[in-house]
Amino acid sequence: MDFSLTEEQKAIREAVAAICADFPDTYWRRIDADNAFPDEFVAALTEGGWLSILIPEEYGGAGLGVTEASIVLEEINRSGAHGAACHAQMYTMGTLVRHGSEAQKQRYLPEIAAGKLRLQAFAVTEPTSGSDTTRLTTFAKREGSRYVVNGQKVFISRVAQSDLMLLLARTAPADRAEDRTAGLSVFLVDLREAGGAIDVRPIDVMLNHHTNELFINDLELPLDSLIGEEGKGFRYILDGMNAERVLVASEAIGDGRWFVERGSRYASEREVFGRKIGANQGIQFPLAQAYAQVCAASLVRFQAASLFDQGLSCGAEANMAKLLAGAASGRAAEACLVTHGGYGFASEYDVERKYREAKLLEIAPVSANMILAFLGHRVLGMPRSY
Ligand SMILES: Cc1cc2nc3c(=O)[nH]c(=O)nc-3n(C[C@H](O)[C@H](O)[C@H](O)COP(=O)(O)OP(=O)(O)OC[C@H]3O[C@@H](n4cnc5c(N)ncnc54)[C@H](O)[C@@H]3O)c2cc1C
Repeated sequence: MDFSLTEEQKAIREAVAAICADFPDTYWRRIDADNAFPDEFVAALTEGGWLSILIPEEYGGAGLGVTEASIVLEEINRSGAHGAACHAQMYTMGTLVRHGSEAQKQRYLPEIAAGKLRLQAFAVTEPTSGSDTTRLTTFAKREGSRYVVNGQKVFISRVAQSDLMLLLARTAPADRAEDRTAGLSVFLVDLREAGGAIDVRPIDVMLNHHTNELFINDLELPLDSLIGEEGKGFRYILDGMNAERVLVASEAIGDGRWFVERGSRYASEREVFGRKIGANQGIQFPLAQAYAQVCAASLVRFQAASLFDQGLSCGAEANMAKLLAGAASGRAAEACLVTHGGYGFASEYDVERKYREAKLLEIAPVSANMILAFLGHRVLGMPRSY
């Protein structure tokens, strides 16, 4: 298998890099310090059509695959930018494009592609169920010509920066469903029409992430906000999640490359004890090791992306890509921080900011432990721990 980039893919990478070059370290430093949302950056990517590349051409997008989307997100994070501000629009496309009705696609996709509608919020996690998604309790009850939703979500990002939100809720109680994954349904919520039914409370976290707790009280949704069939939402979300894992892996790979590049550059410039610190193997080898791991993770990521784009099963590969990329980026982050010594902690070097941003990808949207449990149980056939 050849996973080297085609000419078109190289052009994508260069075009995204050119946009990112207009948003230097100083921009991201200020956005981080102010806990602000990078509106200008997201607008530039939207205008360039980069956030809608997964939308089919007949709905105004570029009709490209997760492979190309992964190149976009990798390049964003590699440039020093923070893809989290805009990645959800790509994560959610797998669910909407593959499982949405023709009417839903006609109604929303052209406007999303044109940048008139933002679909940047994805509400799964709940305070009591955490990683065990099948135990979530937010309930959408069908009452005549509408659903009425009640429940609570936590760590739901970019709600204030979105017009639409994908919501995973129960439509049948867990104890009545034939298996744990049944009875969950996906809804496309128009946040502009939610009024006071969703109480949004920001959560302050260690990085600039615009995440929130949601208290949902009697939220009324029209029947046509349901995506696909009632009760089959977990399967639809899983489809989207495989894309999400590949895309998150790509962001981690971008971060990893940034850490390795910055670390190597600093190691080649900084002189202590009369020589460049990069000449010391204690500094050089961790960066070289991290580089090798980032490159290896990148290949698994492309393999997973290629399988996804062909419509083939890619659960194991997508999860492994996320696991390996998160670990490689984490290792690169440590090496870069250590290489910078005390300066790594000074915000003007950007290492501490990137470090905080990269760390999240080891936990969200799925933690390394849950991936290992998936591999151990589903791929290797060992007994289940949960
Ligand atoms: C900044 C931020 C943004 C986020 N944005 C979103 C968002 O937009 N939408 C959304 O839906 N969610 C979002 N999340 C939530 C994120 O996906 C969850 O935090 C994550 O899935 C873990 O869930 P939890 O925090 O409840 O941890 P828990 O499920 O409580 O787990 C805690 C720890 O225990 C480990 N653990 C649990 N069970 C097992 C087991 N059986 N075996 C081994 N280890 C186990 C986990 O791996 C984890 O390390 C966000 C989180 C953060 C921090």
